[in-house]
Amino acid sequence: MTAEIQTINTLVVGAGQAGIAASEHLGQLGVEHLVLERQRIAQAWRTGRWDSLVANGPAWHDRFPGLEFKGDRDGFPGKDEVADYFEDYVRQIKAPVRTGVEVRRVTRNQGRPGFTVETSEGVIEARNVIAATGPFQVPVIPPIAPAAPAAPADGGLLQIHSAHYHRPAQLPEGAVLVVGAGSSGVQIADELQRAGRKVFLSVGAHDRPPRAYRGRDFCWWLGVLGEWDAAIAKPGREHVTIAVSGARGGHTVDFRALGHQGITLVGLTESFADGRVLFRDDLAENIANGDANYLAMLDAADDYIRRNGLDLPEEPEARRRLPDPECMTHPLRELDLAAAGITSIIWATGYRVDFSWLQVDSFEPGGKPRHHRGVGHEPGIYFLGLPWLSRRGSSFIWGVWHDAKFVADHIAKQRRYSDYDAAARSR
Ligand SMILES: Cc1cc2nc3c(=O)[nH]c(=O)nc-3n(C[C@H](O)[C@H](O)[C@H](O)COP(=O)(O)OP(=O)(O)OC[C@H]3O[C@@H](n4cnc5c(N)ncnc54)[C@H](O)[C@@H]3O)c2cc1C
Repeated sequence: MTAEIQTINTLVVGAGQAGIAASEHLGQLGVEHLVLERQRIAQAWRTGRWDSLVANGPAWHDRFPGLEFKGDRDGFPGKDEVADYFEDYVRQIKAPVRTGVEVRRVTRNQGRPGFTVETSEGVIEARNVIAATGPFQVPVIPPIAPAAPAAPADGGLLQIHSAHYHRPAQLPEGAVLVVGAGSSGVQIADELQRAGRKVFLSVGAHDRPPRAYRGRDFCWWLGVLGEWDAAIAKPGREHVTIAVSGARGGHTVDFRALGHQGITLVGLTESFADGRVLFRDDLAENIANGDANYLAMLDAADDYIRRNGLDLPEEPEARRRLPDPECMTHPLRELDLAAAGITSIIWATGYRVDFSWLQVDSFEPGGKPRHHRGVGHEPGIYFLGLPWLSRRGSSFIWGVWHDAKFVADHIAKQRRYSDYDAAARSR
């Protein structure tokens, strides 16, 4: 006897914010669907972040329209509050989420529409599949990392990705090199230095918006200036990281302040050899470009205030700059790891996606998803949550909600064609 195969109109893979947003819109359109999640709802927020992480945007902004965070709307919810928020959301919209089920393979049916979905709990047939498996799936450590580090106890190095950093006490005694100065690297370096560690922070290209300016958070500014909705990154800036922080009530990331605080800033990490690490001579340039990005946002905000006659307090001190710390005026080009007492390296160097389970014709030759605003090249396949899926905000909480609406609308539109076909056949 063969096991009965469940059929469903739309299968959503992943119950992070992207999958939950998809479920909300599909539900509103009356599209029969199921969300499968291999772990728990909002798992990435639960365990894929360090203990002290708070949202990078304020509670009023980093949320779905249908539910507010409990507590201060200008505050920055902790990672577990964000996970709780999504669990509450699933209950509120009664999303059909099944947890603990992994999707292992999706293939296109031959000679009939839809897809065969192999899961850890059997096979499902779905007319549509939405891949909502996250923008940040597989931590990336660049190939320059020193090979096969020995255990710290043997005088070797502990190397971890920022996805596996939880708290300072997890690292062996000693100094730490943090590679990457986006929001993760900067916040982790700051936390470690405040916990009494000697920290070296390798700074590459970054954007550095002010936390707030003239009484408004940068999330508000990017919204009114249309930046969250920008459809394409400025050429050459697609992978430029953004350095912001909601930690300690929220503050502007200021590399000079970090330098004065005791963190040794260095340029891009270039290579490791014979126990030494080499840094590129680009620290001043990277910080200058970050400053230019910061000042451009102040200018755009001032201009917006002027044109719209807004009554927001002047903030000339936002343009004052601290003197360059010693590590900027005399940047280190290389470091003997042992002599510097470095026992850990934290790679805050980003992530890649893994769609090996999705075996359909919706990828570029290099493996990049092929889609338009989340609608896959293969009819019936959809993507959500990817960086720049339709706009700058696509991988963020508020952005994915709007992308999910577009994708759900597309599925509902397509359903009308197949309904017509089914009705015509039965006449
Ligand atoms: C350190 C950090 C801080 C961030 N801070 C913010 C912030 O403050 N504000 C903001 O808006 N955004 C923030 N983001 C960006 C983004 O909001 C998060 O990465 C968010 O988790 C993305 O949601 P998602 O649903 O797209 O993906 P995920 O949250 O990664 O969810 C994908 C889900 O799919 C499941 N899954 C994967 N493969 C399968 C499979 N084969 N079968 C079944 N289930 C599967 C996973 O278990 C996971 O639960 C941050 C990201 C990082 C890394």
